[in-house]
Amino acid sequence: MKFASYFSSVFSILEEIIHVLLPVRCANCGREISYALKQWLCYECISSLPATDFHLVPLNPVFQLFMHHPEVKFATACYFFHHDGILQRIIHQIKYQHHQQLARSMGRLMAQMLKPGLASIDYIIPVPLHPRKERQRGYNQAAILAYGLADDLQKPVIHHLLRRKKFTESQTRKGRQARQQNVQHAFQLAAHANVLTGKHLLLIDDVVTTGATLNACIDTLIQLPGVQISIATLAIAES
Ligand SMILES: [Zn+2]
Repeated sequence: MKFASYFSSVFSILEEIIHVLLPVRCANCGREISYALKQWLCYECISSLPATDFHLVPLNPVFQLFMHHPEVKFATACYFFHHDGILQRIIHQIKYQHHQQLARSMGRLMAQMLKPGLASIDYIIPVPLHPRKERQRGYNQAAILAYGLADDLQKPVIHHLLRRKKFTESQTRKGRQARQQNVQHAFQLAAHANVLTGKHLLLIDDVVTTGATLNACIDTLIQLPGVQISIATLAIAES
């Protein structure tokens, strides 16, 4: 264990040196940026992100996907996902090109936007991947976003109490009803999940479309008495 922690601190020092010597490039436009900023987008690309501002509108279109659950207090998606747009390029790198630092910095941007409305949350819970999918990818992109939010919100991330038990096919090409059936009963609570009883939970995912996956998570979490749920996704895509 001691050797492992020594090894990881040597690795992070090496990583710092590499980034001082080699320029970091904006994940969207490729322009050189300063590593010291710990952002992976340049200032111009951050300014051009298509913000929804849904967090300023209580009955926004994302909240409406979940408002049939009285436990849901707040829901938003931070940016619009357009075909061939900046969010599509960012999410592609986060999901398929192992750009975990980009995911974490996007989580920090989400926190900056949403922080004033999230003072009452107790825990941050990323939508889980099936363990087989997580092994294939090497990480859960929603969990990395959640850790980015936690950097700023200073709330704990809990990612072992809500589990995905059903291996589902990709939702991308499915309609609203097929998506619901695909994820129905896909999640379960771990045996010691009762520590979440009565808590305000912030559910995090990368993209919301019909809300089927998040609704399946909510159905599972509200088995715990007294939970309140808020939801934030990086982006909203049209179904
Ligand atoms: Zn850029």
